Amino acid sequence: MHSSAHTNYRNRIVGAVCEGHGVSRFRLMPTSTQAAALSQHCGQARYVWNLAVEQHNYWRRGGRSAPSYLEQARQLTDARAASDWLRAGSQMVQQQALRDFSQAMSNYFAGTHRRPSWRKAGRDEGFRIVSLRAGHVRRLSRKVGAVRIPKVGWVRFRWSRRPPYAKSYRVTLDRSKRWHIAFASVPATIPSPQNGRIVGIDRGVVVSIALSTGTLSHAPAASPAEARRLLKLQRRISRAKPGSKRRERIKNAIARMLARQVDRRRDWIEKATTALARSFDIIRVEDLRVRDMTRSARGTKQRPGVGVRRKASLNRRILASGWGQLVRRLQEKAPGRVEKVRAAYTSQTCHSCGHVAAESRKSQAVFKCVACGHTANADINAARNIAAGHAVTARGGQPVGGPANREPHHATSPVNC
Ligand SMILES: [Zn+2]
Repeated sequence: MHSSAHTNYRNRIVGAVCEGHGVSRFRLMPTSTQAAALSQHCGQARYVWNLAVEQHNYWRRGGRSAPSYLEQARQLTDARAASDWLRAGSQMVQQQALRDFSQAMSNYFAGTHRRPSWRKAGRDEGFRIVSLRAGHVRRLSRKVGAVRIPKVGWVRFRWSRRPPYAKSYRVTLDRSKRWHIAFASVPATIPSPQNGRIVGIDRGVVVSIALSTGTLSHAPAASPAEARRLLKLQRRISRAKPGSKRRERIKNAIARMLARQVDRRRDWIEKATTALARSFDIIRVEDLRVRDMTRSARGTKQRPGVGVRRKASLNRRILASGWGQLVRRLQEKAPGRVEKVRAAYTSQTCHSCGHVAAESRKSQAVFKCVACGHTANADINAARNIAAGHAVTARGGQPVGGPANREPHHATSPVNC
C-alpha cells in the first residue's frame, strides 16, 4: 500500500449513524492470530446461547415461567466467575448472545419466528458487537477498511463499498471458512441543540444548498478530468462490440467511476446533515416532492411528456444534487425538527419587504426586489423565506436567519452553520 494513500484515507472515519435500514455484508480479512481470537468469540457466544436454550428447555419441562434476560445475565456473571475460559473472553460478546437469544424468544412468542434452537460448531459461527462508536470503522486505503473488534483489535475488511452508518455489526464464519462482517444500520438521531435557532434551506441546481444563514454549499461533483474520462469511456463503449469482453471491461470502469461519485456525494450529505441537525433546533425545507417531478417528466409511451429532454436533464441535475437523500437523512437525524414549507413563491418573494414578483428574480443567481430594491443572492433570499416559514408571525415578523445584507459565504463540505 502506498503511504500517501494511507494518509489520505486515514481520517475518514465512519460514524455510528446510518443510511437507510438493513444489513450490508463485507469480507473480513483477519490475520491468523485474529482469526483464532474471532473463533474464541464465536465459541463463547455459542456456549452462552446454548446455555440459554438449555435453561429454557429445563424451565419448560419444570412448568415454571422462563428465566428473564436479567436472570440470565446474572447467571452469566456467575458462569464467568466460575470459568476461566469465559472470563478471558469478551463480556460484550457473551452478553449480546443472551440479548439475541432474548430477542429470538420474543420473536417466537410474537409468532414471527421459530423457537430458537441449539447452535452447532462449524455451522453457527458468529457473534454480535453493539455500541459501535464513531471511529471504530476506518478506511485504510481505496480497497481496505478496518474495524475495531473488542479483544481482537483492528481487523481489516474489503472496502467493496462504503459501509452504512451502523450501531452494531455481526461477525460470521461461513462454511467455506470465510469471515464476514455485516453492519446493521440503524438511524441514529442527533439531539436538538436547544438554542432556538431556525434555518431555512433552499436547494438549487447551480448551488447544492443555500442556508438562510448566508452559507452556500456545494456537493462534490465530478472533477473536469473525471468528466473527460467518463465521456471518453462512454464513447468507447458505444464502439465496443455488444457482448464482448472489452465492452464488459468498459462498462465496469464506468460503473466504478459513478460509484465513486455517489460515494463522495453521500459522504458530503452525511456531514452536511449532521452539521445542520447539531446546529439548529428547527430545519425548514421546501416541500417540492422531487420524486413526483422526476416521474412526470418521463411521461408515458403513448403520451410523451412535454419538453421531455430538457426536463430530464434538469431532473438529473436535481437528483444529482441529492436533495431527496439530504431531506431523508435530516428527518432521520432530527426527527420532528424538520418542517416542510410550501414551496410556492419562495424564490420570487422579497425577504425584506414581502413583495412577490417574478421580475425580482433577475437571474439564477441574483435577486433584486422591484418594489424596495433589496438585493441578495437569489438562493439565500429563498432560503430566508423558507426559514421564515409560517413562524414569522410568531416572531413578530422579524426575519429569521441573521443579517439580511451579509455577503454569501461559499462553503465546501462540510457545511458551516
Ligand atoms: Zn422588497
